[in-house]
Amino acid sequence: MDFKLLAAAGRLGAMRPDAALAAFVGLSAVTAAYAVQTLAAAPQITLTAAPASAPAATAPPPATTSPPAEPEPFLIFGEPLPGHAVNSPFGLRRMPWEAHGRLHEGVDIAAPGGTPVRAAASGVVTRAGVSFGYGRFVEVRHAADLVTLYAHLGKVERHLKPGVAVEGGSVLGRVGSTGTSTGPHLHFEVRRDGRPLDPAAFMGRRFATVDDLPLKTAARYSRRVRVAQVSVIPKQKQIEMAAREAGAKAAKAAKAGDPKPAAEARASEAARPRAILQFAARPPVEAPPPAMAASAESQAVDAVAELVAEAES
Ligand SMILES: [Zn+2]
Repeated sequence: MDFKLLAAAGRLGAMRPDAALAAFVGLSAVTAAYAVQTLAAAPQITLTAAPASAPAATAPPPATTSPPAEPEPFLIFGEPLPGHAVNSPFGLRRMPWEAHGRLHEGVDIAAPGGTPVRAAASGVVTRAGVSFGYGRFVEVRHAADLVTLYAHLGKVERHLKPGVAVEGGSVLGRVGSTGTSTGPHLHFEVRRDGRPLDPAAFMGRRFATVDDLPLKTAARYSRRVRVAQVSVIPKQKQIEMAAREAGAKAAKAAKAGDPKPAAEARASEAARPRAILQFAARPPVEAPPPAMAASAESQAVDAVAELVAEAES
């Protein structure tokens, strides 16, 4: 249509983009012949680079030198919060107020409240709702029966109901701190047949075939229990911790008559009631590969973390 007029103008002499735009707007109401006359007579036309809008119509077809397209991968697994790092990994973890470690069945990714949370891969929503531990959450089933779960959301997209198909990368909801959470973050899980897998083994990767899925590796975790560093210990947990500590001290004093302060901490630790039960059906712990043990040891667990059983499923 009018691009041809611009192309004609371009042949007569290229013009500045603003002149081209003005001409383009003006041309729609006049004849081509008149337009060409006007452009030719316009004093401000200069011989500079062709207007940015013109080449679109005149450019040659794109070169077809790119290599042949690779076969579509079996699964493209992205990140639910691109640009935000995992700050509490998958594996055995003990919160400061817990007597024993338990499996952190996903990863925590801290991000400001309201940050869009994206589907890690294409799939179909299996659950979307609210639970005590997870808060607002969405669960999606993908190829090979992989299931991803996005928890503590501040908001879930309205249209997400069981059976709704989602594209990888599409927004499922927003980061929040609902459920048992100490601050805005995403708790992200990957499961298969109910078994928790390390999301870090999947995030940001493409899998050519189903056999490339790191199912074995991702199911392993170190026996080492990391103690979570929590920036804010909730008031209720502080009260519980203090009560346990006081109870243990009293018991120790009554028993020994002469409590040794240095041993108190250890004694109270041992005497603590198991306020938070470990999972009844914990998957077998496999010996981690050396690299994994080393990394688990050096991992600094950070800031936000769940308070209690986010493992409910
Ligand atoms: Zn978590």
